[in-house]
Amino acid sequence: MINPGTLLQTLAQVIRDNADELTDLDQAIGDGDHGVNMRRGFDAVAEMADELNALDPGSALQKAGMTLVMKVGGASGPLYGSLLMTGGKSLGSDPGVNDMAAALRSGIDAVCRRGKAEPGDKTMLDVLLPVSKTLEACVANGDDPAVTLAAVRQAGSQGLESTRDMLARKGRASFLGERSIGHLDPGARSAQLIIEAVCQALGAKP
Ligand SMILES: [Mg+2]
Repeated sequence: MINPGTLLQTLAQVIRDNADELTDLDQAIGDGDHGVNMRRGFDAVAEMADELNALDPGSALQKAGMTLVMKVGGASGPLYGSLLMTGGKSLGSDPGVNDMAAALRSGIDAVCRRGKAEPGDKTMLDVLLPVSKTLEACVANGDDPAVTLAAVRQAGSQGLESTRDMLARKGRASFLGERSIGHLDPGARSAQLIIEAVCQALGAKP
């Protein structure tokens, strides 16, 4: 298993590398703070890497989620915080792929409860839900890890792209109405970046 703190450091780097793009996407249909908010939150988590590496994966995710809630303004902090805190609770100390699928599902349920969003509302859920369904299908099939990771990455990319033609129904983007169509959702992009980075890290493990 990858050290959780090290994985979260990798995610922080990915967020840093793409913060300007997240800002641009949010400037197009929101208030432009998504890049800065995500960066602030994940940088704070990355600073705790040593502490998180001493914890089991589930506890580390819970702790990272609490930090995101405290450090990140806007909607994204509580939503990503819920995802990690609730997901971490069901991940356990020595997770296999079935535990990861269950953790993602329970984390997404928490995001749905908090954000009151549904599939098709042009949010991070339009990435997370297809990823979760794909992961569950791969687990049910008994697919090997490489096949599973490739399928999950593809589901994330397709989910992200699907938000382009959606009408935003949540958050500030919903105030734009029809004008939100034609833009990728910034929260969907950050979710896809995170899924991609987690898959890369899991695929690279010895
Ligand atoms: Mg915003």
